[in-house]
Amino acid sequence: MHDRIYMDNHASTPTDPRVVEAMLPYFTERFGNAASQHLYGWEAQEAVERAAHEVAALLGVDAKEIVFTSGATESNNLAVWGAMEAARARGRHFVTTAIEHPSVLEVAAQLQEQGCEVTYVPADRSGVVDSAAVTAALRADTVLCSVMWANNEIGTLQPVEAIAAACRERGVLFHTDAVQAAGKVPIAAAARELDLISISGHKMCGPKGIGALSVRRRRPKVHLAPRTFGGGQQRGLRAGTLPVPLIVGLGEACTLCARELDAEAARVGGLRDRLWSQLSVSLDGVRLNGDLKRRLPGNLNVSFAGVEAEALLLELKWIALSSGSACASAEHKPSHVLLAIGLSAEEAHSSMRFGLGRFTTAQEVERVADAVVQTVTRMRETSPLAGRVVRS
Ligand code: PMP
Repeated sequence: MHDRIYMDNHASTPTDPRVVEAMLPYFTERFGNAASQHLYGWEAQEAVERAAHEVAALLGVDAKEIVFTSGATESNNLAVWGAMEAARARGRHFVTTAIEHPSVLEVAAQLQEQGCEVTYVPADRSGVVDSAAVTAALRADTVLCSVMWANNEIGTLQPVEAIAAACRERGVLFHTDAVQAAGKVPIAAAARELDLISISGHKMCGPKGIGALSVRRRRPKVHLAPRTFGGGQQRGLRAGTLPVPLIVGLGEACTLCARELDAEAARVGGLRDRLWSQLSVSLDGVRLNGDLKRRLPGNLNVSFAGVEAEALLLELKWIALSSGSACASAEHKPSHVLLAIGLSAEEAHSSMRFGLGRFTTAQEVERVADAVVQTVTRMRETSPLAGRVVRS
């Protein structure tokens, strides 16, 4: 048997032990409700404020703009639905892209059912959305535009700065799902242009069950219709008792990401390049999905011609990899992202996502590369589809 290897860091990441350490006192001795007006409450509230500053520093926004949520699904829902609902009287048009996460696309579908119009801007073959195409889609009645910073399947980085600037010029609010980008590529400098930013703890070596939405307070002040109602916490935008330990964990995760970003991007990017060169030199019929340069350092998405990704995953059970995103994998549908960038259903079904992260080692990369090369070669030799391998 092999020792298992985790290479699915876009689906989730291990919580960094330093983050766990920072959280622990807030489960036991510092357990107060942050809204309570006594020593225990004040202590909790102070920790929440500290964490808001840490999150804000990574994003380049003001701590008062941070709203804590249960994760990015909730952040994206609140941003998109909340902004559209609050501006109902002004306009009902929403612009987004074909390669967004379901937590944006499913809200878009709901909005359409409620009478809104949605424009889905395509991505090109390299997995990048053209900022001019997004700009061209903006109309007088467009309320909001949402474009993800980095794609969770193919890792491509989108020109969010240019798109945000175009939106601002036309008085359209701009939201970005920065879940995969935050802590992996620098975003603080551009974040000044953004109105709404979503992040998630468990994608950045923080805990699960916590995320944040940054909501611009000035020029313009963004109005959101809340989706949860209760005790008026977080300025009424997201009622509910604050999960202080998780919030402390998210803050610490952001601080570690900010401190280690440059070094980690170089290290992880180097390992990813090594993996790609091993696969592409040793195997025929492999194709990289998405641009290599405009890409998250830890992402590789590769099609292996003539090989079913699901079958490859079964052969390599000791390696945690994914065919498409975790959400799409459960449904066994071809990835909407790979189809959107022009792959056929068959090509999409032969694609694997490699997600390298903070705890990925050079030795693991070597073992994964060897195992994938050997297994793909063997499967092609024994597969009835073997003859169909396209030599490239
Ligand atoms: N957006 C993107 C780009 C993601 O990758 C994910 C997680 N797969 C989400 C949103 C949802 O995040 P969460 O798991 O925190 O709800």
